[in-house]
Amino acid sequence: MSQDISRLDLFIDRMVSQRASLDFAITQTADMTGPIFELGLGNGRTYHHMRQRISGRDIFVFERAVASHPDSTPADEMLILGDVRETLPASVERFGPTASLIHADLGGHNREKNDVFARFVSPLIEPLLAEGGLMVSSDRMYFETLTELPLPEGVVEGRCFIYRR
Ligand code: SAM
Repeated sequence: MSQDISRLDLFIDRMVSQRASLDFAITQTADMTGPIFELGLGNGRTYHHMRQRISGRDIFVFERAVASHPDSTPADEMLILGDVRETLPASVERFGPTASLIHADLGGHNREKNDVFARFVSPLIEPLLAEGGLMVSSDRMYFETLTELPLPEGVVEGRCFIYRR
Protein backbone atom coordinates (compact mmCIF):
# COMPACT_ATOMS: atom_id res chain seq x y z
CA MET A 1 0.00 0.00 0.00
CA SER A 2 1.29 3.47 -0.88
CA GLN A 3 2.50 5.52 2.09
CA ASP A 4 1.92 8.78 0.19
CA ILE A 5 0.01 11.42 2.09
CA SER A 6 -3.67 11.31 1.10
CA ARG A 7 -5.94 14.28 0.40
CA LEU A 8 -7.70 13.48 3.67
CA ASP A 9 -4.36 13.65 5.51
CA LEU A 10 -3.60 16.99 3.84
CA PHE A 11 -7.01 18.39 4.73
CA ILE A 12 -6.69 17.32 8.37
CA ASP A 13 -3.14 18.72 8.59
CA ARG A 14 -4.39 22.04 7.18
CA MET A 15 -7.30 22.31 9.62
CA VAL A 16 -5.19 21.34 12.66
CA SER A 17 -2.46 23.75 11.59
CA GLN A 18 -4.86 26.63 11.02
CA ARG A 19 -6.36 26.21 14.48
CA ALA A 20 -2.99 25.91 16.25
CA SER A 21 -1.56 28.89 14.33
CA LEU A 22 -4.59 31.07 14.96
CA ASP A 23 -4.70 30.18 18.67
CA PHE A 24 -0.99 31.03 18.94
CA ALA A 25 -1.43 34.33 17.07
CA ILE A 26 -4.52 35.29 19.09
CA THR A 27 -2.63 34.74 22.37
CA GLN A 28 0.50 36.53 21.16
CA THR A 29 -1.47 39.62 20.11
CA ALA A 30 -3.98 39.60 22.99
CA ASP A 31 -2.69 42.91 24.38
CA MET A 32 -3.13 44.69 21.05
CA THR A 33 -6.27 46.62 20.16
CA GLY A 34 -5.91 47.00 16.39
CA PRO A 35 -8.34 45.30 14.01
CA ILE A 36 -8.10 41.76 12.69
CA PHE A 37 -8.32 41.03 8.99
CA GLU A 38 -9.64 37.71 7.70
CA LEU A 39 -8.64 37.39 4.03
CA GLY A 40 -10.91 34.80 2.38
CA LEU A 41 -14.14 33.92 4.22
CA GLY A 42 -15.00 30.68 2.41
CA ASN A 43 -17.31 28.62 4.62
CA GLY A 44 -16.41 30.91 7.52
CA ARG A 45 -14.87 28.31 9.82
CA THR A 46 -11.68 30.21 10.65
CA TYR A 47 -13.67 33.47 10.90
CA HIS A 48 -16.06 31.77 13.35
CA HIS A 49 -13.10 30.41 15.35
CA MET A 50 -11.59 33.89 15.71
CA ARG A 51 -14.94 35.46 16.55
CA GLN A 52 -15.43 32.89 19.34
CA ARG A 53 -11.99 33.46 20.82
CA ILE A 54 -11.43 37.19 20.38
CA SER A 55 -13.19 40.00 22.16
CA GLY A 56 -12.56 43.72 22.07
CA ARG A 57 -11.06 43.74 18.58
CA ASP A 58 -12.90 44.35 15.30
CA ILE A 59 -12.71 41.55 12.75
CA PHE A 60 -12.97 42.73 9.14
CA VAL A 61 -13.49 40.10 6.44
CA PHE A 62 -12.19 40.44 2.87
CA GLU A 63 -14.08 38.29 0.37
CA ARG A 64 -15.06 38.58 -3.29
CA ALA A 65 -18.26 36.47 -3.06
CA VAL A 66 -19.87 35.56 0.26
CA ALA A 67 -21.00 31.92 0.47
CA SER A 68 -20.46 31.20 4.16
CA HIS A 69 -22.46 29.26 6.73
CA PRO A 70 -25.17 31.58 8.13
CA ASP A 71 -23.59 31.38 11.62
CA SER A 72 -20.28 32.54 10.18
CA THR A 73 -21.29 35.48 8.04
CA PRO A 74 -20.04 38.92 9.08
CA ALA A 75 -22.29 41.95 9.40
CA ASP A 76 -22.32 44.13 6.29
CA GLU A 77 -20.21 46.85 7.90
CA MET A 78 -17.49 44.31 8.78
CA LEU A 79 -17.32 42.92 5.25
CA ILE A 80 -14.91 44.34 2.69
CA LEU A 81 -16.39 42.97 -0.48
CA GLY A 82 -14.35 42.64 -3.66
CA ASP A 83 -11.12 41.26 -5.03
CA VAL A 84 -8.31 41.64 -2.49
CA ARG A 85 -6.05 42.88 -5.27
CA GLU A 86 -8.22 46.02 -5.16
CA THR A 87 -9.58 46.06 -1.61
CA LEU A 88 -6.19 45.64 0.10
CA PRO A 89 -4.62 48.78 -1.46
CA ALA A 90 -7.80 50.73 -0.60
CA SER A 91 -7.56 49.42 2.97
CA VAL A 92 -4.02 50.71 3.37
CA GLU A 93 -5.46 54.20 2.90
CA ARG A 94 -8.37 53.48 5.25
CA PHE A 95 -6.57 51.65 8.09
CA GLY A 96 -2.83 52.26 7.71
CA PRO A 97 -0.46 49.92 9.62
CA THR A 98 -2.95 49.07 12.40
CA ALA A 99 -3.85 45.36 12.09
CA SER A 100 -2.95 43.27 15.14
CA LEU A 101 -3.57 40.00 13.30
CA ILE A 102 -4.05 39.15 9.63
CA HIS A 103 -5.12 35.67 8.56
CA ALA A 104 -5.00 34.73 4.89
CA ASP A 105 -6.53 31.57 3.45
CA LEU A 106 -7.10 32.66 -0.13
CA GLY A 107 -5.74 29.71 -2.05
CA GLY A 108 -7.38 26.93 -4.00
CA HIS A 109 -6.18 23.49 -5.03
CA ASN A 110 -3.42 24.56 -7.42
CA ARG A 111 -0.21 25.12 -5.42
CA GLU A 112 1.61 26.88 -8.26
CA LYS A 113 -1.24 29.36 -8.74
CA ASN A 114 -1.41 29.89 -4.98
CA ASP A 115 2.31 30.71 -4.95
CA VAL A 116 1.98 33.24 -7.79
CA PHE A 117 -0.95 34.83 -5.96
CA ALA A 118 0.94 34.90 -2.63
CA ARG A 119 3.82 36.74 -4.33
CA PHE A 120 1.35 39.27 -5.74
CA VAL A 121 -0.56 39.97 -2.52
CA SER A 122 2.36 39.93 -0.06
CA PRO A 123 3.32 43.59 -0.70
CA LEU A 124 -0.36 44.56 -0.47
CA ILE A 125 -0.74 42.89 2.95
CA GLU A 126 2.59 43.97 4.47
CA PRO A 127 1.74 47.69 5.02
CA LEU A 128 -1.43 46.82 6.98
CA LEU A 129 0.28 45.03 9.88
CA ALA A 130 0.98 47.01 13.07
CA GLU A 131 4.28 46.85 14.94
CA GLY A 132 4.19 43.58 16.92
CA GLY A 133 1.29 42.26 14.83
CA LEU A 134 1.17 38.71 13.45
CA MET A 135 0.26 37.40 10.02
CA VAL A 136 -0.89 33.78 9.60
CA SER A 137 -1.09 32.29 6.13
CA SER A 138 -1.85 28.93 4.54
CA ASP A 139 0.68 29.79 1.82
CA ARG A 140 4.28 30.91 2.07
CA MET A 141 4.36 34.69 1.76
CA TYR A 142 7.02 36.98 0.33
CA PHE A 143 7.49 39.87 2.76
CA GLU A 144 10.40 42.28 2.83
CA THR A 145 10.11 43.53 6.39
CA LEU A 146 8.29 40.79 8.33
CA THR A 147 10.06 37.96 10.15
CA GLU A 148 8.96 34.34 9.73
CA LEU A 149 8.43 32.74 13.16
CA PRO A 150 9.12 29.15 14.20
CA LEU A 151 5.89 27.14 14.13
CA PRO A 152 4.13 26.55 17.44
CA GLU A 153 3.38 23.04 18.65
CA GLY A 154 0.68 21.30 16.67
CA VAL A 155 1.36 23.03 13.34
CA VAL A 156 2.42 20.75 10.50
CA GLU A 157 5.45 22.09 8.60
CA GLY A 158 4.39 23.68 5.30
CA ARG A 159 0.68 23.87 6.13
CA CYS A 160 0.81 27.28 7.83
CA PHE A 161 3.28 30.14 7.98
CA ILE A 162 3.47 32.82 10.69
CA TYR A 163 5.13 36.23 10.34
CA ARG A 164 5.68 39.13 12.76
CA ARG A 165 6.39 42.83 12.26
N1 SAM B 1 -10.63 29.88 5.92
C1 SAM B 1 -11.94 29.69 5.30
C2 SAM B 1 -12.77 28.79 6.16
O1 SAM B 1 -12.31 28.38 7.24
O2 SAM B 1 -13.91 28.48 5.78
C3 SAM B 1 -11.80 29.15 3.89
C4 SAM B 1 -11.32 30.15 2.87
S1 SAM B 1 -11.46 29.53 1.21
C5 SAM B 1 -10.20 28.36 1.10
C6 SAM B 1 -10.82 30.82 0.22
C7 SAM B 1 -11.75 32.03 0.03
O3 SAM B 1 -10.96 33.09 -0.50
C8 SAM B 1 -12.89 31.78 -0.96
O4 SAM B 1 -14.12 32.10 -0.35
C9 SAM B 1 -12.60 32.74 -2.11
O5 SAM B 1 -13.77 33.32 -2.67
C10 SAM B 1 -11.75 33.81 -1.44
N2 SAM B 1 -10.84 34.45 -2.39
C11 SAM B 1 -9.92 33.85 -3.18
N3 SAM B 1 -9.29 34.75 -3.95
C12 SAM B 1 -9.82 35.97 -3.63
C13 SAM B 1 -9.58 37.29 -4.09
N4 SAM B 1 -8.68 37.55 -5.07
N5 SAM B 1 -10.28 38.30 -3.53
C14 SAM B 1 -11.20 38.06 -2.56
N6 SAM B 1 -11.48 36.82 -2.09
C15 SAM B 1 -10.80 35.79 -2.63
